[in-house]
Amino acid sequence: MTVFDNSSFDNHQSVVFHADPDSGLRAIIAIHNTARGAAVGGCRMWPYASEDEALTDALRLSRGMSYKSALAGLPFGGGKSVIIGDPATDKSEALWRAMGRFVDSLGGRYIIAEDVGTSPADMEIVRRETRHVSGIAEGGSGDPSPATAWGVFVGIKAAVHARLGRDDLKGIGVAVQGLGHVGYELCRLLAAEGVVLYVADIDRTRLAKAGAAFGATSVDPGAVYDLDVDIFAPCALGAVINDDTIPRLRATIVAGSANNQLAESRHADALAQAGILYAPDYAINAGGVINIANEGPDYNQAQAFDQVSRIYDTLLEVFARADADGISTDMAAERIAAQRLHSKIDEAA
Ligand code: NAD
Repeated sequence: MTVFDNSSFDNHQSVVFHADPDSGLRAIIAIHNTARGAAVGGCRMWPYASEDEALTDALRLSRGMSYKSALAGLPFGGGKSVIIGDPATDKSEALWRAMGRFVDSLGGRYIIAEDVGTSPADMEIVRRETRHVSGIAEGGSGDPSPATAWGVFVGIKAAVHARLGRDDLKGIGVAVQGLGHVGYELCRLLAAEGVVLYVADIDRTRLAKAGAAFGATSVDPGAVYDLDVDIFAPCALGAVINDDTIPRLRATIVAGSANNQLAESRHADALAQAGILYAPDYAINAGGVINIANEGPDYNQAQAFDQVSRIYDTLLEVFARADADGISTDMAAERIAAQRLHSKIDEAA
């Protein structure tokens, strides 16, 4: 395993490994940057095939969180934790308490939240060992998914404005891939605006529910890329924008919540060349972390969602920068985020 030479290392401030033999916990916390504030980022639990794979995921996601918070203008740095294990079989109170002690040992430099494979209920147990936890129901802002879905919804409106020159969504065709915490709520918001919905999920019960609630048409998971729709909204897993899928897409907008949608960064250019407007994932899916930034005794959901709505303007800024600089929207978002990240570092220096 290489750490400093890992292609996602990118000057991480700290990468901490921890094992707790009693509970079976094996975890990594990656802290990319704390120039803007404590490193905030979810905890992913996954049956990684190797420690290398777990480390690479932690580094990649942690760096992404720095850029996401900077682009959203939040007073947070970027971090992420991963637990090597199967969320279906390996969770226990002892494991979450051990994870809580691990987080606590970093003294607030890293603030944990839920992510793929973890839940607000898991975070409730983590909180028994540390106060450096966010996204919990009691005394916190709760599940971040509705805020994330709201951000994706306003982001879709920004993309429709920029690409289709329209400010309403009536009759627009959207294919939503993944009907989990975010995807299902996004469908609810889109259906209320008269969107024609197509949905794909490997869990057929969710498809039936969305069909009954929103009149959504179910499609085979493998066929979701080929649909004749205006928008493809990836809300499941990463790397779904790749050499195989781009030529198949008939949508002219890609805008969804999934993290790391591009298999490789060059796929942002491939999308642009194919005439597809891409809403960079970490710009459009920042609603959850913006909601967390509002956490505290005075938490007000309406105010938090107002702040999430600024994703609309952020995306218009990203699209305009891409046009002005002749670069992909992904590169434009990265340039804007890097400026915000580094200007703060300079101020602090
Ligand atoms: P989730 O686990 O609740 O939902 C994921 C859904 O995708 C599930 O219904 C699952 O069955 C489905 N799925 C898995 N593989 C699929 C496939 N091949 N085809 C179609 N469907 C498939 O997760 P979530 O919280 O809704 O998050 C969705 C995505 O958004 C993830 O990439 C996550 O990292 C990202 N994200 C979530 C949040 C949040 O607030 N929850 C914030 C930012 C980013």
